[in-house]
Amino acid sequence: MRWGLVGASTIAAQHMIGAIRATGGEVAAVVSTTRARADEFAASHGIAAAADRLTLVLDDASIGAVYISSTNEKHHAQALAAIAAGKHVLCEKPLAMTVAEAAGMVQAAEAAGVVLATNHHLRCSGAHRAVRDLIRAGRIGRVLSLRLFHAVQLPPHLQGWRINDASAGGGVIPDITVHDADVARFLLDEDPVAVVAQMGASGMGQGVEDSVMSVWTMPSGALVQSHESFTHPFAGSGLEVHGDRGSIFARGVMTQAPVGEVELVTATGRAAVPFPAHNLYVQGVGDFLAAVAGSGRPAATGADGVASLAVALAVRKAAQTGTRQQIDYGSAA
Ligand code: NDP
Repeated sequence: MRWGLVGASTIAAQHMIGAIRATGGEVAAVVSTTRARADEFAASHGIAAAADRLTLVLDDASIGAVYISSTNEKHHAQALAAIAAGKHVLCEKPLAMTVAEAAGMVQAAEAAGVVLATNHHLRCSGAHRAVRDLIRAGRIGRVLSLRLFHAVQLPPHLQGWRINDASAGGGVIPDITVHDADVARFLLDEDPVAVVAQMGASGMGQGVEDSVMSVWTMPSGALVQSHESFTHPFAGSGLEVHGDRGSIFARGVMTQAPVGEVELVTATGRAAVPFPAHNLYVQGVGDFLAAVAGSGRPAATGADGVASLAVALAVRKAAQTGTRQQIDYGSAA
């Protein structure tokens, strides 16, 4: 597969170029809003073509897939343009700024007969898949609650638009809550119904929240408690799933690397749960390619990206208004 990158981003540089190449793909071109940055990015990553216009990728019939990792407000228009050009699209989260926009992307991809996937990497984690397998196998009985703790320290090199530009989609809710929404849906196989939330801004940035805590109700009656932050250097990340016959403790697993530990606790005792330590992003690109080939599905579909955005936006609205929010998934989720 020949790929075009849209966005000269950190995530592309640190994870996705390697993942594309590890799955046998070629990174053929990169598009940035700035020509100089596109050229510099192409030179440092061995990419043959670079430009500040999308047509570089869209008009090249040999490019079959586009990976979009620009700032969040650009995803929608760039994805629609790529879909209209007949490209398969792997888009970063959040898919868009609104649920309606994201749903429109799913509808456009369906109409064009191309794959649209959301880069929710945590679904690709061996640890997360092991936790889901335990739940599905009934090892903890009926699930009563899920606790997601994903409060981290945003590294200095990422303290730009994420913490000071609401119009670019900044804030911890579109950045991390959206991932946690996908984790909850992935692990529990159901969609949150309603949320309550509180958020805060510690002064790290301007005009957007940097911390949020929320509680979600699930159709089964299970409760989800979720905490995301950019300002917690030593909190550690993880999740706990509690059932009426057991609990699962997964520590250090809300990460980009295949690390952490998973433990199952039941009446018979405590047991470490092994899981494969494959690269999350390579798995995600591999699943995407299988979907393009018609032999699989993306780890997270476009519809999954609509749903995670719907939950995240409901969390923000709940925090802004101080009211319980029913989640509006739009028509595509
Ligand atoms: P970056 O800030 O590194 O890049 C985002 C955009 O900012 C780039 O596309 C580029 O715009 C612009 N940019 C990059 N460097 C500079 C610079 N030095 N000066 C001015 N502008 C610059 O963001 P991330 O890589 O952290 O995030 C990109 C997307 O990926 C977001 O949607 C984010 O939510 C998502 N993401 C997903 C992760 C995952 O694990 N799934 C992890 C991290 C991020 P241009 O388009 O013009 O090139």
